[in-house]
Amino acid sequence: MRSISRLLRFPAVARTLVLNASNEPLSVVAARRGVVLVLRGTAECVATHDERWHAGVFEIDVPSVVRLRRYVNVPYGRSVPLSRRAVFTRDRFRCQYCGGNAENIDHVVPRVQGGQHRWDNVVAACRRCNTRKGGRTPVQAGLTLLRKPTIPGRFDWVHVAAGGAIHATWSQFV
Ligand SMILES: [Zn+2]
Repeated sequence: MRSISRLLRFPAVARTLVLNASNEPLSVVAARRGVVLVLRGTAECVATHDERWHAGVFEIDVPSVVRLRRYVNVPYGRSVPLSRRAVFTRDRFRCQYCGGNAENIDHVVPRVQGGQHRWDNVVAACRRCNTRKGGRTPVQAGLTLLRKPTIPGRFDWVHVAAGGAIHATWSQFV
């Protein structure tokens, strides 16, 4: 198991989805951490990236999904904290008024009009639309939302943790 520490120096580009023994997503980790979980026997490999890592004579498929061998009790479901990154991920980095590149977070009902900082009142917006809108509602500013902002679903934190890039092998679990 000396090879584990050598693997730890590999670049952390690829990511691994960690499932509970019940197949529920638990976390997203750097793939080298996923490798360690498999090598230690803590988890089994469910799916792999199209990549193999070599460390001397030692070789392993890079896991894209691993499943813990023992069930971990999770007292409550993970929720997505409201952050700039999370909103951008939900809105796919697109301005929710014009579809351009998002640069700002916009409060649909502006805070000066009593709008709250919550999932269903924040959207990603480009600077132009954000400036044009100012302290007005979309109706007052003559803007239309492309879609209604929603509260993230049960496993949407996985998308945020993965930076919006979900590996094909993850889709059946999230
Ligand atoms: Zn825009």
